[in-house]
Amino acid sequence: MNKKLFIIAITATVLLTACGSTEKNDSKKTAENSSQAEITSTVSEDISDSSEKSEESSAVQTESSEKTESSSAEKKKEKTVSDSSKASKEKNDTNNTIIINDQNYTNNTTDQNGTSTNTNDNTSDHDGGQQQDHTDTKKMFEDSLNNVSVEVGDESIVETGTVNGRYYRFTIDLSKWDEFTTTDDMLQLSRLFWQSYPRMYERYADITDPPTDVILAIEDEGYEVAEAGGNFVHLHDQWLYSNPDDYDCIVHELAHVIQAGWENPFLEYSSYIELFADVCRMEYAMDNGYYNDNSWLLQTVDGQDTRKTSVRFLVWLDYMYSNGDIDIMRRFCEVCYNKKYSSAEWDDAWQEIFKGTELEGKTADEAWELYTDSDFAYLSSYSEKGETSVLLQDYDIRGKF
Ligand SMILES: [Zn+2]
Repeated sequence: MNKKLFIIAITATVLLTACGSTEKNDSKKTAENSSQAEITSTVSEDISDSSEKSEESSAVQTESSEKTESSSAEKKKEKTVSDSSKASKEKNDTNNTIIINDQNYTNNTTDQNGTSTNTNDNTSDHDGGQQQDHTDTKKMFEDSLNNVSVEVGDESIVETGTVNGRYYRFTIDLSKWDEFTTTDDMLQLSRLFWQSYPRMYERYADITDPPTDVILAIEDEGYEVAEAGGNFVHLHDQWLYSNPDDYDCIVHELAHVIQAGWENPFLEYSSYIELFADVCRMEYAMDNGYYNDNSWLLQTVDGQDTRKTSVRFLVWLDYMYSNGDIDIMRRFCEVCYNKKYSSAEWDDAWQEIFKGTELEGKTADEAWELYTDSDFAYLSSYSEKGETSVLLQDYDIRGKF
């Protein structure tokens, strides 16, 4: 079954995007996170001219993938699950090929694997112990995930449930897991899926027809942050180990699953693929942004100063001009997905997006001027855990969507 799903995922992949966790440069960050802040300031630069750097980025990717493998080999520990997956071998080999060819949006050149150490030790010596672990994990997940059925096996956790009358299946594939990502992390990622994905699906599915069956593979190999293609999302096993609060990078990846194949020649800028995923990360962050807003920033106009690079501009458009009858981000998605306008025809595309709003008749440049004149463009999106950022105090973005 898994093999079939993987093949479907790969076949359906028009686009495979490799993604980084972006924008962490707030001065309030702890010393522990400061190295991450340095890394992600590089990230922002990469986004702005990602297409020009794609070849170079692929080279970086290849190099760092090799480092990951050698690093993890040194630290490999006995696992509570079997690592004898043959079916996944074919899938990963194929994906690696796609990553190198289609990686236009590398926005993270992190290589922190050399400094990672795995102190987890869930070693279980007996099959009976493994079975008990599975039973305990199943109970832990079902107690936390309301109305979701959970099956735990040696190499997967399969969750099924119905949200708003629609049946979803979420599989955590552990065939390449090496115990850097904890069971608690997996539970958080599961909570994230059931909170975020059905809501994004409800909003965009009639445009893009995305899958209701999603696989999240936690793999101690491959692209070092995360990536998505078809219904398949990869998360590097060491990412949450090194960035323990960055769960919402998976909201970004799930948004790529929702996009289901935007194509570059029909976007005003190819960066819109990544910008949309980060708009979703902002709007659908887990637990009202409890982790996200403490570790990831919606860049101000000072940090992302053009329409080509600004996530916040799209969030502003969505917040200010969507209403009961008009959904700006759905229109944006529709224009991007339906290949209606070439990149040279986006003056018309913006008119279609703005139609019936106060922006009707204005150009995108004029809308940008309005944005840069507003305080929305400058307020900090950072907050301590459980608190509300200055931006969200004034603009209840998540309350609207
Ligand atoms: Zn991405």
